[in-house]
Amino acid sequence: MERPDFFTLKNGEKAKLPFTEKEYNQRVNKLRTSMEKNNFENPKQEIEWLLCDLLNYKRVDLYVNFEEIVSPSKLKLLREWIKKRLKRMPLQYITGNTEFYGKKFFLNKDVLIPRPETERLVEISLECIKQTNNPKVLEVGTGSGCISISLALERKDAQILSIDISENALKKAKENVEYHKTKNVSLSKVDILNDLPEGKYDMLISNPPYISYDEMQTIMVDVKDFEPELALTDFKDGLQFYARLSDIGPLLIKKNGWMLLEVGINDHSKKVVNLFQSKGFKDIDLLTDYNNNKRVLRVKI
Ligand code: GLN
Repeated sequence: MERPDFFTLKNGEKAKLPFTEKEYNQRVNKLRTSMEKNNFENPKQEIEWLLCDLLNYKRVDLYVNFEEIVSPSKLKLLREWIKKRLKRMPLQYITGNTEFYGKKFFLNKDVLIPRPETERLVEISLECIKQTNNPKVLEVGTGSGCISISLALERKDAQILSIDISENALKKAKENVEYHKTKNVSLSKVDILNDLPEGKYDMLISNPPYISYDEMQTIMVDVKDFEPELALTDFKDGLQFYARLSDIGPLLIKKNGWMLLEVGINDHSKKVVNLFQSKGFKDIDLLTDYNNNKRVLRVKI
């Protein structure tokens, strides 16, 4: 039987040449090959990740709902997305969102892409405030707001102040606060290295910029060229925020309260521990992430 010239897709869009599975595969394979040529490690996985976002699918839907995939306009968008990816833009900036602690967060180039190890920071922080009613929490360097919002969703009774120096980051955080309807998160512009937010808190939590200026020169292009420098590095030794927080922590945190800070891999965590010890803190622990790396510093005040 001859194929019709036009074909109406489920969304009402008319597709001139409906793709067969074979045609679709050919087109996607072409994109895949272009990524392989450019030394991407997992092109298939990356394309599937983009497709899932494009079509609002779960991974298995890609194989089950095959016919629905084949909208030419979506394929065109996919092609544009792959072009961006070929320039090494991270997938999360291409789609404008990611998942963190099981929830969706909107992103753009003004905020750091939330990392899985930071989910561990959230998990540990929930444990710290387990026994505290109506805990007051301060987050330093909120970025997308992923930490504060995740906490706020788990602890509706918490009052969270989330600060950042970047107004643009705060705009994104506001979008995420509104999306998740977390009324217990308030956002404020504060430069923590020079100013002090008001109030006393049960817990201070932060994933501060900890890449040293030297190390910045060696990190992968995907990160260096796309993520905000201000969120990644302190432009010095990677310890500036820890030094400042160790100074102001006791002013901001109640007695027996907690300071929870993400730290970098390799010897960064040791340097941070030494710094806190040199300032006289006694109750210091380094906790591991899911890869068994020491990534969270917990200090009892
Ligand atoms: N709190 C955000 C995150 O952990 C942003 C951190 C930052 O900008 N350094 O993803």
